[in-house]
Amino acid sequence: MANWSSSMKWHDHIRIAVKAAEDFGLDRSLIEMLRSSVILPDRKKQKYERHHTGKDPETMLLIWNARNAVLRGDRSAAALELGQALHYIHDKSVHVGSQHSHDSIEQEISSLDFPQNAIENGRKRGVCSYRCAERCVSHTTPKDDAASALWEATEHSRMLIAAVFGDAHVSDVSFNRMRKHKWLYLLVAACLSVTSLIVLPIILITLARWPGFPSVLLGVVSAIVVVKPLQKYIDLRLECKWVAAGSEAQPKLF
Ligand SMILES: [Zn+2]
Repeated sequence: MANWSSSMKWHDHIRIAVKAAEDFGLDRSLIEMLRSSVILPDRKKQKYERHHTGKDPETMLLIWNARNAVLRGDRSAAALELGQALHYIHDKSVHVGSQHSHDSIEQEISSLDFPQNAIENGRKRGVCSYRCAERCVSHTTPKDDAASALWEATEHSRMLIAAVFGDAHVSDVSFNRMRKHKWLYLLVAACLSVTSLIVLPIILITLARWPGFPSVLLGVVSAIVVVKPLQKYIDLRLECKWVAAGSEAQPKLF
């Protein structure tokens, strides 16, 4: 049986993960852990299961697990989790077309030279932050040519290793500022919701004597208005967690 449900050959999953990890400077034992965990999803999956699409939440969960493991000092567990996330990123880079085109891309990737420039790009772009990890996952898109797929898988692997294993370089001052801003955005979102959902209808009803005002429409407008500060709050909250969760030195926030 042709193993066509796998989006990339094991050899390629491994060479990308190992090269990216070596470039980052991970310890040998962690590289060995990545080498085995990057093919784990194909070993675990059911026959014919296709897992190259719709895996973003699972991928992000694995990345969070990896980051939390780093923060509690268990780098080996982190490599086990991250390797599996890298697998999904690699698979997602490959276009899911007909079985024929899929097979030929898979074949061609194996014949390509390793894109060292993609490693260098990933080294420049990868930073230890939630935002970097999240963007790597959400911006990984299926490519319909082998060279682009290999490039993306490689660059994003290098970035994700830095996002998870890198040093956060957050001073106490900027960490406190980040925490303050987080609450500020939540406050703005709350004020905007109260204004548009309660205060505005009351004004309209009393002043314009317009009880029939379409409150559903107002609800929609309100949701659009508050979404930005709320998203900012969530991002900052997650960024704080990325830096501090489980760390003894930093205050526990959530
Ligand atoms: Zn796979």
